[in-house]
Amino acid sequence: MSTSATAPIASQYRFYAAHVVRARRVGASLIRVTFGGAELADFAGGGRDQSVSLFLPHPGQHAPVVPVEQGEDWFGGWRALPADVRAVLRSYTIREHRPAETAVDIDFVSHGDTGPASRWAALAGPGDRVLLLGPAVPDNRSVCFRPPDGTDLVLLAADETALPAVEGILAWLPAGTRVRAWIEVPDAADITDLPTAADVEIRWIVRGSTPPGSDLLVSSVRAARLPTGGTPYAWIAGESGVVRALRRHLVDERGFDRRRVTFAGYWRRGLSEEDLRAEALAGATA
Ligand SMILES: Cc1cc2nc3c(=O)[nH]c(=O)nc-3n(C[C@H](O)[C@H](O)[C@H](O)COP(=O)(O)OP(=O)(O)OC[C@H]3O[C@@H](n4cnc5c(N)ncnc54)[C@H](O)[C@@H]3O)c2cc1C
Repeated sequence: MSTSATAPIASQYRFYAAHVVRARRVGASLIRVTFGGAELADFAGGGRDQSVSLFLPHPGQHAPVVPVEQGEDWFGGWRALPADVRAVLRSYTIREHRPAETAVDIDFVSHGDTGPASRWAALAGPGDRVLLLGPAVPDNRSVCFRPPDGTDLVLLAADETALPAVEGILAWLPAGTRVRAWIEVPDAADITDLPTAADVEIRWIVRGSTPPGSDLLVSSVRAARLPTGGTPYAWIAGESGVVRALRRHLVDERGFDRRRVTFAGYWRRGLSEEDLRAEALAGATA
């Protein structure tokens, strides 16, 4: 990670207080929550797949509980709080940031009440309080979509959790960029217009009753005829097992340069985000 001469990048992190302005369904499977709050005027975003850590209250709490530490100490401080007190921490994409309105939109996949974030979004109403940890800028890895110079074809593969990121990426890409995208969604009603100046060919894959995290997306990419030659860049996000399989396919079977494949497991079947964080921490200390 690059750092500025004056301060470590992590110290730029701070909490931004926000509250729900409105919540509404978009398509069959997403809930768009618009957050407002004066602090959002200073929130810096980098567009594309910009993501944040979102802090939610537990049921019965008025506001999310976070440590007083900000900057690089926030995570240790958060972990030191009792698990049933500290805010629920989840990763989400900033679908749209409108600084002039001090507003931010986040699209939550509604996947039932097994997860606290999905449950929270289904019940979200005006005034509900949250915190965002930002800014969401490339320097601190909150923006991962970064096609290297010379890219002449962009490939995007995503499930519905990464649909907001795909929308952000397509809105950001310059006119004329050649893009092939595969997007898996639960329901035909999730298919939506994705405004862009880029030259895009999108293949929507409607999952229907097939469980999420199946091989539908991999099969669809595998079956695709791609232009040969040129300098492609691929961005893949969604269920971790699917993302890994897609990356393997592109690198091992299609001969992609692995440095030109950005991949991110946004969730993993059967594991909560806490489970994933615990697994990563155990791996880091093993
Ligand atoms: C950088 C980044 C950006 C992300 N952006 C978005 C976004 O904009 N919108 C969005 O909806 N998600 C996004 N996600 C994914 C989101 O963080 C996870 O889906 C998260 O697990 C949801 O938290 P939860 O509390 O609802 O469920 P958890 O408590 O984390 O999980 C509970 C159970 O639900 C399952 N589960 C989790 N997510 C799903 C799902 N989508 N479908 C079916 N089962 C699921 C888990 O496997 C687990 O069994 C993003 C993730 C990352 C890393």
